[in-house]
Amino acid sequence: MGVQREGKCLECGEAFTVSAGGGFSFHLVRCEVCGETKSIGTDEIEPLLASYRSDLLTRYNTAGSVARDYYAEKHWDPDKAAEEKYKRSVEDFAGDCACGGKFTFDAPLRCPACHSTHIELGEITVFYD
Ligand SMILES: [Zn+2]
Ligand SMILES: [Zn+2]
Repeated sequence: MGVQREGKCLECGEAFTVSAGGGFSFHLVRCEVCGETKSIGTDEIEPLLASYRSDLLTRYNTAGSVARDYYAEKHWDPDKAAEEKYKRSVEDFAGDCACGGKFTFDAPLRCPACHSTHIELGEITVFYD
């Protein structure tokens, strides 16, 4: 579920709309440098999704037969690892922003006018899938 909400920059006072989260049919990534948002349709990255699904399946199919290591059990989460690998592959697919920054899932929200990260979030205005 993605949302759109009002955002206000605490540095320059710019008011703008913030999109956060992806839907079923797309992901949102953000530029680390300027905060530009890019949406990537899951139909564009079908091979990446397929690889992600197969990583998850492999994990479930082998879970019972792999020797369990206590440390690995506590500190290694294969589901998380598969998800991280998938996210990195989507980020690679997204490529670089026009400003030269890199699009990532975890980049902070930035003011479109001054690129400050001092943002106050307001009401959610739209829900979308
Ligand atoms: Zn950028
Ligand atoms: Zn600003």
